[in-house]
Amino acid sequence: MSVTRKFLSKKQRALEILARLKHFYPDATCSLNYSTPVQLLVATILSAQCTDERVNKVTPALFSRFPDAASLAIADLVELENLVRSTGFYRNKAKNIQAACRMIVTEFDSIVPNQMKQLLQLPGVARKTANVVLAHAYGINAGVTVDTHVKRLSDRLGLTEHTDPVRIEQDLMELLPQSDWENWSIRLIYHGRAVCKARSPACVACELADLCPAANKPVVIG
Ligand code: SF4
Repeated sequence: MSVTRKFLSKKQRALEILARLKHFYPDATCSLNYSTPVQLLVATILSAQCTDERVNKVTPALFSRFPDAASLAIADLVELENLVRSTGFYRNKAKNIQAACRMIVTEFDSIVPNQMKQLLQLPGVARKTANVVLAHAYGINAGVTVDTHVKRLSDRLGLTEHTDPVRIEQDLMELLPQSDWENWSIRLIYHGRAVCKARSPACVACELADLCPAANKPVVIG
């Protein structure tokens, strides 16, 4: 155990990690391309089990053909499926996008809700998607977005012992200031993509290594 890490509590470590992530990724932001809250919602639904890069290749044609909740709500489902096919799980994603847009039109005056409880009523929307929409469309830190990178890095950094995203989110919300909940996720995602990759974490080049219990340990793929 390094001298630095030895004397820090879990909360102090989390705050130091947050400070370093802010320093090293000062301009980090949502990597999905969108122009409106509904487009962000759709892009986030498409990003499940898919890279943001791939989603950004699909959405220009998708949003050109169906730019808003009203048009997505009445879209031909097969056409919608074909437009999102390359993001994987396309039948389910197309079905959820259409059902969510129908509910937005009929229940929410065609406006994506800005409350967690209402967002979670939308088909295909769990806390991860809701957190992304609230943070980036409305500037509301309602929770910590836990995607595959946040899950993996929070585990390696020893900030949670849970594997369920909801429990991980609860642990992180206790460790971090609310104003930084989305800052944390976005920057941890950047670090996961650039340095702490799933199969080959670059611990020797990692600026968090002295704070990380998993530094230079064998990789466990869970
Ligand atoms: S030290 Fe290694 S395991 Fe820990 S965060 Fe950095 S790259 Fe990931």
